[in-house]
Amino acid sequence: MECAESAPSPEEPVLTTPCTGTVVARATGLTKVYGQGETRVTALDAVGVEFRRAEFTAIMGPSGSGKSTLMHCMAGLDTPTSGSARIGETELSSLGDRELTRLRRDKVGFVFQAFNLLPTLSALENITLPLDIAGRRPDPEWLRQIVTTLGLTERLAHRPAQLSGGQQQRVAVARALTARPEIIFADEPTGNLDSRSGAELLGFLCESVRALEQTVVMVTHDPVAASYADRVLFLADGRIVDELWSPTARAVLDRMKAFDAKGRPA
Ligand code: ADP
Ligand code: MG
Repeated sequence: MECAESAPSPEEPVLTTPCTGTVVARATGLTKVYGQGETRVTALDAVGVEFRRAEFTAIMGPSGSGKSTLMHCMAGLDTPTSGSARIGETELSSLGDRELTRLRRDKVGFVFQAFNLLPTLSALENITLPLDIAGRRPDPEWLRQIVTTLGLTERLAHRPAQLSGGQQQRVAVARALTARPEIIFADEPTGNLDSRSGAELLGFLCESVRALEQTVVMVTHDPVAASYADRVLFLADGRIVDELWSPTARAVLDRMKAFDAKGRPA
C-alpha cells in the first residue's frame, strides 16, 4: 500500500501479499460475554486472529459487532470470558494488575476517537507523558523521527486548544508511538476529523507502519480509510466473517454491501 496523503485510487488494487513478519499479537478462541439471562450478549464469539509486525489492519463491521471489545481485550483494557489474547508471547490473562499495567504501558499504544489530550500540557508534554509517568526518558532520536514523521515539529510547544483536530489526533498517535509499543490499536481515530485531516492522519499511520515498522490495528466505518490498510477484517455478531487483503475502497464498499442486510457499519 502506498502511503499517500490523499486517498488511494478506488480503481487500482495495489498487489501485496499477506505479511510474513513476526506475530506481535494473537487472539485464539477469544470470547466475551456481557450480562446474564435476558441481557446476555456475546460480544466476541471465539475470534482467532494474528497481527504481524509492520502490518496495518482495518477492522470493520456493523455497530455492536464487537470491534471495540476485540480491541479492548487485545489491549488488556478488558478481560475476555474465555480464550486467549497474547501480546508477543505473553498471555494477558496470566498477568496480575501491576504486570498488566506495565505491559499496557510498554507494549501497547491506544488511540481513542476523542483525542484524550491533557489541555494544560504542551503537545510535547502530552507526547512524553506516559514515559514521564513511568519515570523513563524518551529516546531523543526516536522522538525526533516520530515528530518528523507526523509533521509535528513546528507544533510541539502548542497546547491542544491551539491545535486543529487533525493535529491533536496526530499528537495522540505520537504519544502512542513514543514508548515503541509492539502494537497500536486505534478505535475510529478519524471519527472526529474532517476528511482532509482524516486523510492526513491515515497517511501518517500508514507511514508509521512503513517507515517505523509499527503494527497498527484500526477500527473504521469508512471504506476509504480502510483502503489504507494492508487488510480488512469484517466482524459481524462477534465473529470475523471475512478478510480482504490489499483492499481498495471499492472492494471494501462492495463487501460492506454484501453484509448490509445486517445494517450499516458504524
Ligand atoms: P462495536 O465497537 O462493533 O460497535 P462493541 O464491541 O462496542 O461493538 O459491542 C459489542 C456488543 O457488546 C454490543 O452488543 C454491545 O452492546 C455489547 N457491550 C459492549 N460493552 C458492553 C458492556 N460494558 N456491558 C454490556 N454490554 C456491552
Ligand atoms: Mg466501537
